[in-house]
Amino acid sequence: MSSRIPVCAPFFTGQERAYLIEAVDSGWISSAGEFISKFERAFGALCRTRHVESCANGTVALHLLLHAWGIGPGDEVIVPSETFVASANAVVYTGATPVFCEVDEKSWVIDVADALSRVTPKTKAIIGVDLFGVVADYDGLRAGLKRLGREDIKLVEDAAEAAGSTVEGRPTGSLADAAIFSFFGNKTITTGEGGAVTTDDVELGARMKFLKNHGMDSKRRYYHPELGFNYRMTNLQAAVGLAQVEHASELFTRKQRVHARYRAALSSVPGLHFAANPAGQNVVPWLHALVDDRLESEQARDAFLARMLEQGVETRPFFVPLHTFPYFASTPVHGVGALPRTEALAARGICLPSGAGLTDAEIDRSIEVFLACRDVR
Ligand SMILES: *Cc1c(COP(=O)(O)O)cnc(C)c1O
Repeated sequence: MSSRIPVCAPFFTGQERAYLIEAVDSGWISSAGEFISKFERAFGALCRTRHVESCANGTVALHLLLHAWGIGPGDEVIVPSETFVASANAVVYTGATPVFCEVDEKSWVIDVADALSRVTPKTKAIIGVDLFGVVADYDGLRAGLKRLGREDIKLVEDAAEAAGSTVEGRPTGSLADAAIFSFFGNKTITTGEGGAVTTDDVELGARMKFLKNHGMDSKRRYYHPELGFNYRMTNLQAAVGLAQVEHASELFTRKQRVHARYRAALSSVPGLHFAANPAGQNVVPWLHALVDDRLESEQARDAFLARMLEQGVETRPFFVPLHTFPYFASTPVHGVGALPRTEALAARGICLPSGAGLTDAEIDRSIEVFLACRDVR
């Protein structure tokens, strides 16, 4: 059997190695060093935001943001159930309660009407998630909150999966009150582990910088006026990140090219659906996700994915809807099983190999194996 096609390998064709060696040789390997500010500046230029706060990973970036806003016990934060678990865990870390909502049937991102229907006097924020690179409707959410007279509710963009996507030319990171990114090894831009908050609110930025640095007083060393965190990115991570940002447009183009090849081969096959990209969006897909109507259950889907793996093609199922997890069962989602659209979508969803470095031959083999395994019934 020929070698296995990984679901999402990193793609290092720029200065990643050179900058990393430079950082090691400089001796600046922790959270001070010039690559950190260079990376933050470069990433801010990409997102067109005034402030970038680099972090140790995307999960703590989201926690840092919510904490900096003072979100905590007694508060509610609305989150779509179809996302990576970190989107909701960060809410729990603050002591607030995640309130899960449905995703849209066609685009698979947060259902605006359903989210707004769950707003209560306790709601402090809505986290839109740019699932697989498709951007949530932040303008729609903002307009809805205005109609409800609730412009006090913060809008967060979980853009962990959507580096490079744009809406009417506006990049992810700049579309809500603040956004978070992940630079985990399989994300479109990676630093190994890493994350960031982007925002135009420079006061919020300063507060996050203070909090992520153990809450240490900038004028009095080792004096900590309030509880802080160690959520900093290292200079080593930033060195890799700077190199990634410098060739980001190549990464984005390659992601889109892989996706276009999958769509061309599969979108007209009966029963297969890709996410409908909302008008005005130029999506940079993270994972190449599709839903297969033939898969009637999670079990059928997992058996199918196991067959593909036997043929050397790694895939992934969609995220398990978060509201079905035992430790979220006490959250007010109006009962487990109350998000039927999300559950039906997640059970039938699969992600094909998605690395930016995939060759046409690898993409075509993935398609071939997908179709062959699909015909084994
Ligand atoms: C990857 C991811 C995160 C954060 O991940 P980290 O591994 O902590 O960097 C958050 N939200 C979503 C939607 C993600 O896909």
